[in-house]
Amino acid sequence: MPSDIAIAGGGIAGLTAALLLARAGFPVTIFERAAGFSEVGAGLQISPNAGRILDNLGLGPALDAVATRPLAIEMRGAHSGRTIVALPLAAAAQRHGAPYRLLHRADLQAILVDAARADPAITIETATDVAPLGEDADGVRIAAGGRERRFDVLIGADGVRSRIRAHIGGGPAEPTGRTAWRITIPADEAPAAIPRDRVTVFLGDRQHVVVYPVRAGREINVVAIIEEGWRGEGWSEPGDARILAGHFRGAADGLAALIATAGTWTRWCLAGVDARGPWQQGRVALIGDAAHAMLPFLAQGAAMAIEDAAVLTRMLLRPDLPAEVALARYVEERRPRAARVADAARQSGAIYHMSPLAAPFRDATMKALGGERLLARYDWLYGWRQNG
Ligand SMILES: Cc1cc2nc3c(=O)[nH]c(=O)nc-3n(C[C@H](O)[C@H](O)[C@H](O)COP(=O)(O)OP(=O)(O)OC[C@H]3O[C@@H](n4cnc5c(N)ncnc54)[C@H](O)[C@@H]3O)c2cc1C
Repeated sequence: MPSDIAIAGGGIAGLTAALLLARAGFPVTIFERAAGFSEVGAGLQISPNAGRILDNLGLGPALDAVATRPLAIEMRGAHSGRTIVALPLAAAAQRHGAPYRLLHRADLQAILVDAARADPAITIETATDVAPLGEDADGVRIAAGGRERRFDVLIGADGVRSRIRAHIGGGPAEPTGRTAWRITIPADEAPAAIPRDRVTVFLGDRQHVVVYPVRAGREINVVAIIEEGWRGEGWSEPGDARILAGHFRGAADGLAALIATAGTWTRWCLAGVDARGPWQQGRVALIGDAAHAMLPFLAQGAAMAIEDAAVLTRMLLRPDLPAEVALARYVEERRPRAARVADAARQSGAIYHMSPLAAPFRDATMKALGGERLLARYDWLYGWRQNG
């Protein structure tokens, strides 16, 4: 078993892994490139498969203080505004052992950071960029904070543009030709037609908008996914609202008013990392977006990062496995799941973004199936539990 572990990246993946590894008895150092844990990102849906792991860390009450539990995921027509189908979520906790929660990413990150700071086995070094240098019999060598350091194991939780992935031979993230436009607005400024108790997905012509409450219902998170060739980097590129309004001309009143909302939209180029690429080399392994950044159409990127952290910890805890073998077993177990979820997210994208000609057939099929049966199709996803 490793005597110490370095984690590059203090996002959802790195922080969750640090907490799980520290509770399992490993000394952990998180290196985060940014100077602090700022309020980047917007809403996150945390489904029961990941929520169970956070609950087991004892974070349930803190999460519930800032989360909303949606009654349903409701599909509506972006132009008609009419409901196509609603997948009921109120019974998620009974069905899958943890609630379906809606959170602001900054709230989840703050809860994880507070828990990590309270754990004496975790050291956090911010404003510290990690560069992997190599591996020898004594461990993994990295450059961090202007000097060379050595750890038994290095975990790359450094996101979609991962330097650790490049070090172990992985390719760059591939832009998908789609962008996510995001804004968070005070709930009392959102149009009355926008539901506050559920996730609403407005399906348009080759584009869609997802709306749900965050911050215990005080704010509304809006994400519009459109197809455009823009390829900027970073979470916080400002987006001109007129471009977005042009895409949603003719939208139903409530949605049109929401899109016209004054305020600063941010634009994020959606890029993917093929889950079938390299995840591990010796005592270096990847988790989260670094290993398998996926389209957000199933709202599972952070959830997969949390699942990765749980499996990684279980493998490193096995006394019969040298660290590099434990990491290889982690990859063996996680890769098929991450690839399946990424494929399912891609399929959801194709369904959400159907052409106006095909959309009526999609809507009729969804209606005929009904919300309960559509939801049951995701039991494999939300009902996931670790092997072993
Ligand atoms: C529009 C949109 C909506 C989404 N909605 C959902 C959702 O509802 N539910 C869900 O589960 N997922 C969702 N996701 C996906 C989710 O946001 C990501 O999968 C998740 O945040 C990835 O976490 P991470 O820790 O792997 O990476 P990141 O959050 O990118 O964290 C990586 C960290 O590493 C740091 N770093 C980078 N390089 C270095 C280095 N060399 N040294 C040190 N530090 C470094 C970065 O500063 C950063 O803090 C969504 C994504 C998008 C784009």
